Order: sequence, then structure tokens, then C-alpha cells
Amino acid sequence: MKILKFGGTSVGNAGRIKALFNIINPQERQIVVLSAVAGTTNSLVEISQAFAGGDKDKASASIEMLHGQYDALIAELFATDEGQQNGKELIDYHFNLIASFSSHLFTPIEEKIILAQGELISTTLFHFYLTEIGVRSKLLPALDFMKIDEDNEPKIDFIRDSLNELLLQSSDHNLFITQGYICRNSFGEIDNLRRGGSDYTASLIGASIGADEIQIWTDIDGMHNNDPRIVKGTNPIANLSFDEAAELAYFGAKILHPQSVFPAQRFNVPVRLLNTMEPQAPGTLISKSGAAKGVVRSIAAKDGITAIRIHSSRMLLAYGFLRRVFEVFERYKTPIDMITTSEVAISLTIDETKYLPEIEKELGDFGSVHIDRDQTIICVVGDFGLDTHGYASRVLDAVKHIPVRMISYGGSNYNISMLLQTEYKVEALRSLHNRLF
Ligand code: ASP
Ligand code: MG
Repeated sequence: MKILKFGGTSVGNAGRIKALFNIINPQERQIVVLSAVAGTTNSLVEISQAFAGGDKDKASASIEMLHGQYDALIAELFATDEGQQNGKELIDYHFNLIASFSSHLFTPIEEKIILAQGELISTTLFHFYLTEIGVRSKLLPALDFMKIDEDNEPKIDFIRDSLNELLLQSSDHNLFITQGYICRNSFGEIDNLRRGGSDYTASLIGASIGADEIQIWTDIDGMHNNDPRIVKGTNPIANLSFDEAAELAYFGAKILHPQSVFPAQRFNVPVRLLNTMEPQAPGTLISKSGAAKGVVRSIAAKDGITAIRIHSSRMLLAYGFLRRVFEVFERYKTPIDMITTSEVAISLTIDETKYLPEIEKELGDFGSVHIDRDQTIICVVGDFGLDTHGYASRVLDAVKHIPVRMISYGGSNYNISMLLQTEYKVEALRSLHNRLF
């Protein structure tokens, strides 16, 4: 069994949806995981925000606009009257549901129902399209098997058992279609795996049922060794290990959802990153044996980082201090990305700043707190194991003309990270590329 996940641009219009049929092989057993049509989830977020803010007119206008886009898509997608009719009914059903929330109290529960509609629509449309062209497929409702627990962690055993049961019930089918991104939470409510979560869905499915391979189809030919939008002459990386990919995915969230490496790694299912626009291109294969010895693999950057320094000459050397600092972040469910320490201060970074004011206030008990916004993490991934040498100096030499706020080396064998002001990012990426490749 293979898992094939197609992102929003791969189902972005009627032509693209039809073209998916050139990639899937209906004779082979596979589960196709689809995102919402490109732009839909963003629009659904806007609609929810308008409802939450009590702005019903704005919500109605956005609903109408999105509805109109789907009417146009249906007109192009289906050739028969029956197809048109089914498509139209489907779209009307989902948009009536979305519009119905205007008369309700609007809570995060309603919001998550609205956010789920994009994937419910795209998968059913694809199923209808396949039916119209005479190809058998079976829709697997993600809400019947994809589940997270009270800590928002996937319940792998539940996913495996429910999915195997569903597959068994339809053992005469080869081609299954399911929704990425959406799930149920521990209360049984509709929830989701966070933005970009369809990759995570594909990985969880592949891992839980022990698939042969997980394919993530996007609009770029694999993971590149630097950001192709910023640096000229980047190349796709043919093979990566799970560890290397995990380091990079956090930075290249656009191509692979950062959490999606771990289930595949835990159950040793290879992940292939492929390009819908260029299906023959080899892309990137992420597997157990993908590491390359003694080389730099890739450079990546992540913006929107906030650095926090806690200066405490009094307490830093005391045991238990770091625990108390970390507990503040734990209380506010805010992950820490990078950490560096000195004898008198600790610096760390976060990318989720929702609770920053509360965190800053509590950290104030330990000493003086200094916050720097608009920071970027630059990450160099490669084989920097204990028996290698010279990489740190080459990396630092490449950025010697740029002010660096933090450096992290040795956390894993695969990563050298630096924090700098976002305004220096482009220069840093280019200079590192020239020096390291
Ligand atoms: N449709 C969701 C999003 O836009 C999930 C995904 O595309 O992976 O975030
Ligand atoms: Mg994505």
C-alpha cells in the first residue's frame, strides 16, 4: 500500500484535479490524501474570524466569494449533467453549513467545523470526478479514524485499528481517498492537525498501517539545498535521512509539515517528496539510510522568531533554575526552539508569541528579561558528527560580516544553527551557499 498526498496547489483548479489521474495508478492499492483547494483554508480562516468578531456582513461576503469560485470549478470539472448536478449539490450543502453559523454563538468548536469543510469538499469532488470518468474509488472519512488525544498528540493505535477496519470493509477497492488535516479530538469534536497538517495525516496513515511508501506531492521537485526563492543555483537533494529531514522540515514548513517526519521515522516508512508539475523528476527520498557522510546537505531559514534573554547573576548557577524557566514555557504551551547558556544568562527562541506578555512577566521573577523580535534562525544541516572537524569555522567564516545573536552547535550531529536579525537573512543564505557548496 502506498500513501499519496496532494497539496492545495495540486488540486488548485479543475485542470489540476483532472491531472491527478495521470499520477495515481488505479490498479495499485493506495490511499490518496488531499488538502483543500489552494486558498480555501485561508478563506475559511477569514470567514471564521469575521464570525468570531461579530461581522456577519463580512463573513457573508467572503462566503459568497468562495462559493462563486467553487461554482466555476464545478462547471469546468464535470462533463455530464449528472456530474454538474452532484457537484453543485455538494458545494451548496457545505456552503449552507458554513453560512448557518451566522446565527450561532461562535466558539472554537464552530471554527474548527468551518475549517474542516475545505478538505471535505476537495476529497468528495475528486471522488465524484473519478466516478464520472468510470474509475472506482472509496472515500474514507478521516473523521472516523484520525484522532488526537488531550495533548493534541495522535492516537496511533486508534488510527491503526480504525483504519484497518475501514480498509477491511472495502477490501474489494484499490483506490481510497481521504481528507488531510482534519481529525477528531479527545472530546470527539471536529479538530485539525494545524495548518499544513495534511502531510502529517499522510505520515500518520503510512506509519500506522505500515505502508510501503509515503509520497508527498507538491509544486517543487523535492527539498532543495537552500531556499530557491532567495538563492540562485540551488539543487534538489536526492536522499536524506529522517534525522536530517526532521531538522530541515521545521524550516521548510512550506514543503513538509515539521511533525510529519516522526511517525514515518518511528515505523520506518520511506517518504518521497515529488513534484506534481514534473512527475518524472526524482524528487527527494527520506529514509533510514539517506544520510551522506561528511558533507553539508542543506541551508534553511525560518523567520518570525523571537529571542528571549534572561539575565540572572544570582540564580543561574543554582540547580533547578533551568527547570523553573522551562516550566514557564510549559505552562503556556509554548515550544522553545533554540537555547544557549552562559554563566549569567540564558537565551532562547520561540516562534509562538501568543502568550509572550504572560511569559515575560513570569520570567521577570528570575532576573532581567530582554526580548528581540524579527529574528531569523539559519540552520545548516549536514554530517557534523564527533569525528568531523572544521564545519563550525566555515559556517562562522561565511557570516563573519553579519551580526549573529545566538549560535547552537552540538545539539545533534546534523545541525548548526544561528540566530540573526531578519534583515540579514538574504545575505547570510547567499554567503553560506557560496562558502559551503
Ligand atoms: N488545508 C490545510 C491548510 O491549508 C492543510 C494543508 O493544506 O495541509 O493548512
Ligand atoms: Mg503543505
